[in-house]
Amino acid sequence: MTHIVIGGGIMGLLTAYYLHSAGEKVLLLEQGQLGKESSWAGGGILSPLYPWRYPDALNDLAAWSQRAYPSLIDALKEKSGIDAQWWQCGFLMLDENEIEAAVPWARQRHQPMEVIDAAVIKTIAPGLSTTNIPGSAIWMPEIAQARNPRLLKALITTLRTQGVELREHCPVNRLIVSNNKVSGVICTDTKIHSSTVTVACGAWSRQLLAPWLSRLEVEPVRGQMLLFKADPALLTSMIMRESHYLIPRRDGRIIAGSTLEYVGFDKNVTQDARRELLNMAVNLLPELRNFPIEHHWAGLRPGNNLQTPAVCKHPTISGLFINTGHFRNGVVTAPASARLCADQILNIPSILDPAPYCL
Ligand SMILES: Cc1cc2nc3c(=O)[nH]c(=O)nc-3n(C[C@H](O)[C@H](O)[C@H](O)COP(=O)(O)OP(=O)(O)OC[C@H]3O[C@@H](n4cnc5c(N)ncnc54)[C@H](O)[C@@H]3O)c2cc1C
Repeated sequence: MTHIVIGGGIMGLLTAYYLHSAGEKVLLLEQGQLGKESSWAGGGILSPLYPWRYPDALNDLAAWSQRAYPSLIDALKEKSGIDAQWWQCGFLMLDENEIEAAVPWARQRHQPMEVIDAAVIKTIAPGLSTTNIPGSAIWMPEIAQARNPRLLKALITTLRTQGVELREHCPVNRLIVSNNKVSGVICTDTKIHSSTVTVACGAWSRQLLAPWLSRLEVEPVRGQMLLFKADPALLTSMIMRESHYLIPRRDGRIIAGSTLEYVGFDKNVTQDARRELLNMAVNLLPELRNFPIEHHWAGLRPGNNLQTPAVCKHPTISGLFINTGHFRNGVVTAPASARLCADQILNIPSILDPAPYCL
């Protein structure tokens, strides 16, 4: 039997990866190009932003994934030759007002976290402008990042090498459902049969699921990013202030992100956002004004009306599975979400209790 997975973002690709690793046959259908939507556009921070603001269920997915990432990236590198550059560069959060909530959260969840003073902040980020150095800040030394576009390339190459069928330019128009059971999909007028179908369509998930779901509302939330071509010594840790962040890459590039815009399926970039991100970036790290902006892009996050993503079997339609609605945390939670989804498809004991992610 072949399992159908719809969506070639990180959720669909990793779900296919875990199904294939369990010895199953998979067909993945992607409406455009593989790995070119939100999963490509993201920053690759392997932590929720301000994780204490999220429910335990989201942080449980993140924690499982954080443990899984180093060996997953090593395995993908071995199979594909592509290094997604897992880098434990640490995360410095300059919002002093978050300390009161962050410290008990870290203690309760056994997360390495330090409250550091101005002198230590300067040693971690020497290029930070003095006006942005608070009296104290939150330092999470074990938070890592991955270079998400490379992670996607490594995954796609690995899956192809392993013989998993990945079809691009194959939009699924609808699911074939009768008597509360899925039996396949319709993809550009062609019926493809399967007794399991997984919807991992990111921001577009609602379009396929709408006839059968009322509780889950997934909507696109645009995020714009700027990429500076800077020097490797300029910044060596991720820093965040008032929900905006700078992410250094190993080669010296620095990503400045991001906006949060409810503008439908519009992926255009705007001059306002460019100004906003540029001001934020040079305000935090004044030296950045001497480096060129190499790229400005936008992606559509799968925003979700619930507190956690939906990673589950459909409540009434047998054979239908859902792995979507990861909003701002789809890279950090991907390995756990995909594995949890695959476990449910295979009907085997799952890595986490599936209840909090059910509809
Ligand atoms: C600017 C920005 C910054 C971010 N930063 C981070 C970060 O630092 N850390 C983090 O953890 N997360 C981050 N995220 C969030 C993260 O990128 C997303 O949550 C995650 O990528 C969602 O993955 P996905 O596979 O569900 O969606 P996507 O990557 O969007 O993939 C869905 C795929 O499904 C395909 N599809 C849709 N409908 C159909 C159909 N009918 N038929 C066939 N194919 C279909 C689409 O074409 C697409 O390729 C960021 C997102 C953005 C935009």
